[in-house]
Amino acid sequence: AAKGSGRGQFRFYSSELHDKARERNDIEEALRDALQNEELSLHYQPFVHQENGKVAGYEALMRWQHPKMGWIEPSKFIPIAEETNLITSLGEWAIRQACRDAAKWPNDVSVAINVSAAQFQQEGLAAIIGGALAASAIDPARLEMEITESVFISDMERTDKLFRDLKKLGVRLSLDDFGTGFSSLSYLGRAPFDKVKIDRSFVVGSTEEGSRNPAIISAIVSVAGALGMRTTVEGVEALDELALVREKGVDYIQGYLFSKPLTQDKILEKQGSGEWVLEAKGPSRN
Ligand code: C2E
Ligand code: MG
Ligand code: MG
Ligand code: MG
Repeated sequence: AAKGSGRGQFRFYSSELHDKARERNDIEEALRDALQNEELSLHYQPFVHQENGKVAGYEALMRWQHPKMGWIEPSKFIPIAEETNLITSLGEWAIRQACRDAAKWPNDVSVAINVSAAQFQQEGLAAIIGGALAASAIDPARLEMEITESVFISDMERTDKLFRDLKKLGVRLSLDDFGTGFSSLSYLGRAPFDKVKIDRSFVVGSTEEGSRNPAIISAIVSVAGALGMRTTVEGVEALDELALVREKGVDYIQGYLFSKPLTQDKILEKQGSGEWVLEAKGPSRN
């Protein structure tokens, strides 16, 4: 019986692998035309000042709706875009679009854009960002580039030069998803980061009895503070989590408790009605 089921299992896995490979292929093919077919858009998730809920800025998050496959998650298509280097054209589009949209927001509201390690290796990224800033006429200090520590794995000379060029432009740098990956403290010293984003995984379960996450959040806030960097915490969904991260002294808060990612139309609508302070709306897990 064991032998029989073993064979069956083998067949099952092999066809599953086959399906996965085909799905990946379909996504790659479709992604090649997504930009041209105007299937991509940006949604914007606010991050707020911890003390009063006032919107400090919005993070641009790419969205893709394919006519046949429907909505495809970034976690599915961004890695494929990175492997195929399609991310350079998608990323360039996102930088231009986000700056254009931010030009319609108040002058003290920032825009954060995610940049992949592959884009960081791209020739001319600083020129693309400079061009987008010039075209939209927004203050460079309102633009935050979010990168993960994966940029440190590649060509360091090129990376260091890009950091210098970005600083010259006057844009801000955030270290995204901090605490996942290698999270070497040396990375914090290697580049002129203005902000550290504490990964959502430290918020999950943080209010449960015996969780070590509060101590980790404290430690990151403390290191960032000593280096003169601000902190944002990602993925705050509940009121007790909000109370906790406030007590730990994070500067900015982002998460479904305040808002999911919004369309530009929705932002302009809120702006029209003067809604710039967000209320924490969510369940308390207590
Ligand atoms: P990220 O930059 O760490 O973005 C945060 C992700 O967490 C977003 O997922 C956001 O929708 C989600 N999120 C925010 N608040 C909450 C919350 O309270 N609870 C939960 N469960 N999730 C929350 P999204 O939009 O699916 O993006 C996933 C990742 O894809 C991003 O992670 C980023 O690494 C990448 N990505 C998205 N847009 C772009 C882009 O334009 N360029 C590049 N290079 N990467 C992008
Ligand atoms: Mg991000
Ligand atoms: Mg993040
Ligand atoms: Mg994340």
